[in-house]
Amino acid sequence: MTTGAAFDVNKVRGDFPLLKQQVNGNPLIYLDNGATSQKPQSVIDAIVRYYTTTNSNVHRGVHTLSQLATEDYEGARAKIRKFINAGEDREIIFTRNTTEGINLVAHSYARHNVGPGDDIIVSNMEHHSNIVPWQMLCEEKGANLRVVPIDDTGELLMDEYEKMLGPRTKLVSITHVSNALGTILPAAKIVQMAHAHGAAVLLDGAQAVPHMPVDMKELDCDFYAFSGHKLFGPTGIGILYGKAEFLEAMPPFMGGGDMIKSVTFEKTIYNDLPYKFEAGTPDIAGAIALGAAVDYVSNLGFDQITAHEEELLRYGTEALSSIAGVKLIGTAAHKAGILSFVMDKAHPHDIGTILDEQGIAIRTGHHCAQPVMQRFQIPATARASLAFYNTKEDIDALVKGIDRVLEVFS
Ligand SMILES: *Cc1c(COP(=O)(O)O)cnc(C)c1O
Repeated sequence: MTTGAAFDVNKVRGDFPLLKQQVNGNPLIYLDNGATSQKPQSVIDAIVRYYTTTNSNVHRGVHTLSQLATEDYEGARAKIRKFINAGEDREIIFTRNTTEGINLVAHSYARHNVGPGDDIIVSNMEHHSNIVPWQMLCEEKGANLRVVPIDDTGELLMDEYEKMLGPRTKLVSITHVSNALGTILPAAKIVQMAHAHGAAVLLDGAQAVPHMPVDMKELDCDFYAFSGHKLFGPTGIGILYGKAEFLEAMPPFMGGGDMIKSVTFEKTIYNDLPYKFEAGTPDIAGAIALGAAVDYVSNLGFDQITAHEEELLRYGTEALSSIAGVKLIGTAAHKAGILSFVMDKAHPHDIGTILDEQGIAIRTGHHCAQPVMQRFQIPATARASLAFYNTKEDIDALVKGIDRVLEVFS
């Protein structure tokens, strides 16, 4: 990754206009990056520039604007290919979000490769969007959804995973980083073990891409899904990476314009990759702006991003664990910047409300991961999730906010 100038968090914060806001009479402390991230000015500018200068449909017109829009749209695809070190641009499919990417694989791959009595493996710490599509498919096909258990720190039990793999395993679909616990999973190892049994692998990268470099060649996964909005890009745009040999063999997900070469009522010929999987007019502005987000992150460089976030995580973990009555949920050795916690005296919802009064935004609830809450026998957690623009002062404010919760509930 590129290393820019020395990391200056205050300068970086200056690039994010929303962070300058006051909320409930206090400066905003934004610690809900796991739900969605804020956008740098360059991403906002990319959207405005597209709609004020080149707005036109892609892949259709011979006119100048359409060509410019197509160049920018395809340019964004190339940036994203480079960002995740995929081999070819046609392996990068624009989707709406992680959820759509996973559903695409369920419909166009798993439906044709999983049969009665076959196994699909997920983990106990998946987001609902990496559970429900597989449940639906297993029900339709008479296949089994197997769940790899986790230990009390939130680490995947690799020996249990090994035992689960067998000739019936057709697909392993596992998160790269847990949104509820912050655990970074040994993704390359998980892929390698699945491949040894002839199973395909999808990684849910929604929480990985904002925090660390991801490399498709190194991971060797068959599919990788993520959302633009958690990566400092806009909502409504996401990415599904798929190995060309897989995508080539798969039928389209949706039918319509742009995904065809020719249509007659007798026979329709599908378009080449990646267009086969991009039916209809895409979110052109969103794709271009996601390209701008990737430029922004690449310019900062993951060397600096991960160093800064690791320091914040260490600082936050120490601060929260030293407050009596606060318990961290998710204490794996390798974690991304997520601090999930519960308090003896206060329900997460009340924690969230009292923090909000002080301008502190965190997420409370089950984080779309109810099975992992059940695993820890809790209904919900309060979750502070970090981005590179957070500071130690943000953590100090969180600690002060928690002190206030303790006061209210004393
Ligand atoms: C947010 C998230 C998703 C779903 O992302 P959408 O943008 O809502 O589709 C899936 N998996 C994980 C791990 C997430 O954090």
